[in-house]
Amino acid sequence: MTLLHNLGFPRIGAQRELKFALERYWRGEDSLAKLESSTADLRARHWQQQQAAGMNLLPVNDFSLYDQILDHSLLLGAIPSRFGDLSGHSHADAAFCIARGKDAQGRPVAAGEMTKWFDTNYHFIVPELRREQHFQLGSNKLFDEIRQARSLGHAAIKPVLPGPLTWLWLSKAEDEEFDRLELLDSLLPVYAEILQRIADLGVEWVQMDEPILSLDLPLPWKQAFESAYSRLHSSPAKLLLATYFGPLLDNLHLAARLPVDGLHVDAVRGADEITALADHLPTYKILSLGIIDGRNIWRADLGQLLARLTPLQQRLGERLWLAPSCSLLHVPVDLHAEPALDDELKSWLSFALQKLEELNLLKQVLGSEDHQREELLADNLRICDSRKHSSRVCNPAVQERMQSLDTRASIRNSSYDQRRPRQVSLPLFPTTTIGSFPQTAEIRQARLAHRQGRLTDAEYKTLMRKQIQEAVQIQEQLGLDVLVHGEAERNDMVEYFAEQLEGFALTRHGWVQSYGSRCVKPPILFGDASRPAPLTVEWSAYARSLTSLPMKGMLTGPVTILNWSFVRDDQPRATTCKQLALALRDEVRDLEKAGINVIQIDEAALREGLPLRRSDWQGYLDWAVESFRITAGAAQDSTQIHTHMCYSEFNDIMPAIAAMDADVITIETSRSRMELLDAFRDFEYPAEIGPGVYDIHSANIPEADDMLQLLEKALERIPAERLWVNPDCGLKTRSWQEVKPALENMLQAARQLRKQYEQNIPVSA
Ligand code: GLN
Ligand code: ZN
Repeated sequence: MTLLHNLGFPRIGAQRELKFALERYWRGEDSLAKLESSTADLRARHWQQQQAAGMNLLPVNDFSLYDQILDHSLLLGAIPSRFGDLSGHSHADAAFCIARGKDAQGRPVAAGEMTKWFDTNYHFIVPELRREQHFQLGSNKLFDEIRQARSLGHAAIKPVLPGPLTWLWLSKAEDEEFDRLELLDSLLPVYAEILQRIADLGVEWVQMDEPILSLDLPLPWKQAFESAYSRLHSSPAKLLLATYFGPLLDNLHLAARLPVDGLHVDAVRGADEITALADHLPTYKILSLGIIDGRNIWRADLGQLLARLTPLQQRLGERLWLAPSCSLLHVPVDLHAEPALDDELKSWLSFALQKLEELNLLKQVLGSEDHQREELLADNLRICDSRKHSSRVCNPAVQERMQSLDTRASIRNSSYDQRRPRQVSLPLFPTTTIGSFPQTAEIRQARLAHRQGRLTDAEYKTLMRKQIQEAVQIQEQLGLDVLVHGEAERNDMVEYFAEQLEGFALTRHGWVQSYGSRCVKPPILFGDASRPAPLTVEWSAYARSLTSLPMKGMLTGPVTILNWSFVRDDQPRATTCKQLALALRDEVRDLEKAGINVIQIDEAALREGLPLRRSDWQGYLDWAVESFRITAGAAQDSTQIHTHMCYSEFNDIMPAIAAMDADVITIETSRSRMELLDAFRDFEYPAEIGPGVYDIHSANIPEADDMLQLLEKALERIPAERLWVNPDCGLKTRSWQEVKPALENMLQAARQLRKQYEQNIPVSA
């Protein structure tokens, strides 16, 4: 019989129990014992559910109170020196110190840096290593969780560990740069010790996660794989080397021949190379196929999978294992928690628990006679058919529009130089903000009351208008040049649009962990996207009516909506993105008609959407930039198009950034002290730039002098007539007490700069 296993289960809980338990503990409302008992319950429930769904090997140590990479750093005793001696702390408290920025004495220090986990929206804490790094067993969490699983009667368990190469690859140097591969020699004995201890607990299999095998690896790293796994080969535990998030490509032969007992591969993204892999795999090895998509929420087409699996099963027999493609951390827990979704749509979806049930069904079908297969698959066939032919998925009007889309749609009438004189006239160093103002308790309560029906539409509208009025008044008093309405009506920059566009569904509990206790709830894009009615025009037009100053309209761009949603898998992402672009294009037109002649199209997630393999970058950038241009291309020359991006490391993709052809780009640069602007100077970026002068992520009020200095630095890289003055990002997470003085200082810096410039005082940086 084919063995089923799971690589990891979402730990947040179907009702976000982990989030609430953590936050209660952090606020001091619960004891550590309470936190540990509620998380033990959560693990127990998840193992039980996975077992009930037919998993033959249950993952252990996939749970984490904060982050599995941070847990692993603690296990290896790799704690950055600024945190002091954390050895007297529990695993939980040590992890929280690093994640939340406290040293062993409880004094504030810089928290461990967070960065995105491959191409997911999960963030891990970057290990920080020294040249002389010493490793030693530093935590019992892994062993305690094995014991817990055992005590609950789970005999068939499979502890999960980040592999040595992936963990080193993801780390950074604590201070001076050095080659982190040099540390491998001292790292491996600790791995050997961990594996020995796991085996001593009676465990047979260990899952070693090495997802970097789906990346472009330099030769020394490839070679290090061979030597590392040869050295771990003598370990008494059997190793299942797990790769995921992409095909193996040039790493296929390497992965196939490593001396381990089994190899897990992503058979969704790497579907094309499964046969080649089976050809190259030594006959002693298990091949685990990640056949159910762990990165998306669609029900699989089991008939199709069966056709692919049958020949492999005949070849491999017991050596074939089946699993989801990757850990289920990246999908919500349970579809049954969604009573508000209609039955048809629900039948198309599959969350973590449903994915395991799909695996189980697949196994049953594989093990049954031909005549039984049909019956077993009947439901699945019907569901796949209904999705394929549903009129909710295919919208002829959208299809027609896509067909007749011609290249001119993505080209503005004139070049930036010709457009600029026709657009708003503004002082030198114009000032603006990125869009949102503080989401006060009052605003959040109003939104909740409206959603729950305690506020009528009209009452809600009146309240929001009052917020807009106040925001406009404050901006006028401060003296900003280009105003915004403040985005009070938006819960989230993607969800707000998804709620109104056709083709999207929203879940109530479809949470996915982003980092620590933070979760996101990605909308589900199931059908052709279209805009049944204007989305933002009413609010922007109202804001505009309140002032004679330019009012900037605010849209979330097509690429960002795409990258932060679960999107359909039945057509290329490029097509889906262009549909979104067309829907937003109409919004640009309507904003213009309402007299809005400055429009910002946020593309916060464009840079982070870059594919894992460099060879895929250009393809992505081509359609991503084209999508943005389809939206922006509706604008008249006289409309100034802004775009905003949060993550501003553009060195590698400057031509694409310029090709977006925005009139103004605002970016995050204050934390890098404007150094990120070098790319713009070296490339000779052709339009206007607003490098953020204050870090909105910090509660500190920036000083005018400090911002002036940053602006002077920016002027070394950007011509004066193209420089804007603005914060790094939206202000929705800050309070008005912080925002007002901060903006006041920012405006003072801008005025000072104008004065210096007019009097021809040389800037001193
Ligand atoms: N306009 C959005 C805001 O100000 C942009 C947010 C973002 O870039 N993440 O909130
Ligand atoms: Zn931003």
